[in-house]
Amino acid sequence: MSSAASSGTGRTAYVIVGGGVAAAKAVEGIREHDEKGTVVVVTQEERVPYERPPLSKGVLKGDDEVDSVFTHPQSWYADHDVELRLGDPATSLDTSAHLVTLRSGESLSYDKLLLATGSTARALDVPGADLDGVLYLRELQESTTLKEALVDGARIVIVGAGWIGLEVAAAAAIAGCAVTVVEPQAAPLLGVMGEQVGGWFADLHRSHGVVFRFGDGVARLEGTGHVEAVVTTTGERLPADAVVVGVGITPNTGLAQGAGLDVDNGVVTDARLRTSIEDVWAAGDVASWQSTALGTHVRVEHWANAHDGGLAAGRSMAGADVTFDPIPFFFSDQYDAGLEYAGHVPRGSGAEVVLRGELSSNEFMAFWVLPEEGGVRVLAGMHVNVWDTIDAVQQLVRERTVVDPDRLADTAIPLDEVARVDG
Ligand SMILES: Cc1cc2nc3c(=O)[nH]c(=O)nc-3n(C[C@H](O)[C@H](O)[C@H](O)COP(=O)(O)OP(=O)(O)OC[C@H]3O[C@@H](n4cnc5c(N)ncnc54)[C@H](O)[C@@H]3O)c2cc1C
Repeated sequence: MSSAASSGTGRTAYVIVGGGVAAAKAVEGIREHDEKGTVVVVTQEERVPYERPPLSKGVLKGDDEVDSVFTHPQSWYADHDVELRLGDPATSLDTSAHLVTLRSGESLSYDKLLLATGSTARALDVPGADLDGVLYLRELQESTTLKEALVDGARIVIVGAGWIGLEVAAAAAIAGCAVTVVEPQAAPLLGVMGEQVGGWFADLHRSHGVVFRFGDGVARLEGTGHVEAVVTTTGERLPADAVVVGVGITPNTGLAQGAGLDVDNGVVTDARLRTSIEDVWAAGDVASWQSTALGTHVRVEHWANAHDGGLAAGRSMAGADVTFDPIPFFFSDQYDAGLEYAGHVPRGSGAEVVLRGELSSNEFMAFWVLPEEGGVRVLAGMHVNVWDTIDAVQQLVRERTVVDPDRLADTAIPLDEVARVDG
């Protein structure tokens, strides 16, 4: 069966597969340059595309209304002549026939296709992981389910001290829960932050009553029907009313792989977000895009990348001359600590940390740097509660300037003057 949305050529001009912010912004990008071309958005979830950051922050804490997460209200799509296929995911892709098939059996033939399929939370693979009360946090209803579990006095065990684990720990601690975080590594966010800055995150959470079990993993979950305890690999039994699993995500590359697109830690694209096969683009968490500024392919799991990448892909699909070349940017909120991080530190790079300000003040910056002739080069930087600094961080990263680490650490020298060498 062919799509009712087909244009006179029998094809839909633009098919967008995905239900996150990248998909929503791609529609905007298309409509900036093409008001008439037929657009169909195909989603797996039963709702229009929405933003995920509030799911572990405002929505979870009850500060934000659930309805506030949608990138656009449903009426916006009709107003922009966009057809929606909600809850009917794409199951296969035939790029030579320009055909995408949906779970319902419907086939859409397309002129141009965007893959914005995002990521899926990794499952905990231990006995008992299928018990009730073992929760994940990727989709909207998972946030509302988790919120119900975060009641005063509830015992919440969080598996994984990554961003999701820490943000949930903050929301749970604020709600009055007894929170324990089990993390195999020696500190939170160790791979990104290193031990010193990771240790600051641990202290921040401890000051709100959160307990950590570092260097320990989950052996099994116990309970009859509903989870009652987490048994760790060192044999400790942690009673639990709910367990939240935050052990990372996997990009949804199945469609792309099945269609023979280049996939290497994500769907490989060029700087215009075009994949290895003509008329197919990719953006957001699922895309590994060619970064001119960083000189490598980059895949990140950041809201800004999906937001800006979706917009850029839509423009590119509609024929605009687009180069997508941001410095990756991430933000988080935990208690009264607001932070922004920009840059890219390849794993195993051996980057060292330069601190600017005192960690204990909860107002500081950290830079990940590599030694170079004449100083250091900044690969990434983060501030905690030092606002209006992230543009300068991005500039340091983009320009690959070699700076004096003592000047970088000196809070008396404005950040945008650190690189200047006087006299
Ligand atoms: C709880 C939470 C908090 C976060 N907080 C932050 C934060 O503070 N800061 C930050 O920078 N980033 C944050 N992120 C990350 C950010 O939300 C993601 O990077 C962003 O959602 C990626 O957008 P996307 O559109 O690429 O993919 P997604 O948001 O994953 O959306 C992809 C959509 O495509 C759908 N889909 C998959 N396969 C198919 C298919 N075959 N057919 C149709 N549809 C399909 C999926 O169901 C999903 O709805 C957070 C993420 C989560 C989960």
